[in-house]
Amino acid sequence: MYSCTQSYELRCNGRGNGACNASPHLVGPECYEFSPLCIYLSPTTSCGFEDVPDEGGGGGGSSPPNPGPGNCPPPHPGGNGSGNSNGNNNNLPVINDPVVEGETQNPCDKLVQYEQDSYIKGQLNGFKAIAEDDNVKVEVGAVFKKNGTGWGAVPVIGTPENPHITFSFQPGATIDVFVHTHFKGLMSTFSPGDLQMYHQVLSGNVSANGTDLIFILVTNSGTKYAFKVTDLDKFDAIAQEHFQTTDDLNAFSIDYFDNIDIENDNNTNELEFLKMMKKLNLGISLFSANGDFSQWKELALNEAEDDVIENDCN
Ligand SMILES: [Zn+2]
Repeated sequence: MYSCTQSYELRCNGRGNGACNASPHLVGPECYEFSPLCIYLSPTTSCGFEDVPDEGGGGGGSSPPNPGPGNCPPPHPGGNGSGNSNGNNNNLPVINDPVVEGETQNPCDKLVQYEQDSYIKGQLNGFKAIAEDDNVKVEVGAVFKKNGTGWGAVPVIGTPENPHITFSFQPGATIDVFVHTHFKGLMSTFSPGDLQMYHQVLSGNVSANGTDLIFILVTNSGTKYAFKVTDLDKFDAIAQEHFQTTDDLNAFSIDYFDNIDIENDNNTNELEFLKMMKKLNLGISLFSANGDFSQWKELALNEAEDDVIENDCN
């Protein structure tokens, strides 16, 4: 069967001097380090005869996941969480294999590494530019895999039909960092679907270092968050109870995300997100970054639960 599919690539026309007048090319470190504003999304259409189902072949051990849009993805209700259908028919197993403990017991340690990693920092600034562009109406994300001394990356972008990003992973593919944006109109915090997706990545053994998987969110509201599981048993128990079916996830959204709203200011949502974490005993730690991702802070509730305490990671 002859068919065409549209996909998107992150491209850039940036030069090392910060100008955006180079020939368009696939994003490389020079784009991120010097000219994140020169990065844009480029739709490409590829057509061909389809012999076998596309399982995203090719790629060696260091190749990150295949982000083929529309392939049995875990849906991603990035809005108020009451939206998308979800089922067990995605290709990440919901029942978890044993997840190994990562080497980083203190999640701050990992984020301090990323504060000093010009590639990751540059990437995140690129995502910030995309998230802050009100004209972008789709979620944009990428997964990153440490690859020797460098990084491998696979971007993934929502489509006009389904603006929320979805992932399918090649067997054996692993990742270290997962980043996505919330475009204008989506929540300033992680959504219930984000929590579900994180658990699916963990339980699918897609994480390169077990519980050391960092999940980062950059929003149109200007917030920049990361979380990481710190108590796998607790997080797993929540996932088993609330993330297994559409109905469960919708009920979870109503029960625990009721006070988090796109109409709220960022501080209110942040406080409510932390209250939700505490109420559930969620087993994850939450962090926020400064404007250029050179400083991460761990966030905690104060005792009276009416304010957020920020602790510098370094
Ligand atoms: Zn999200």
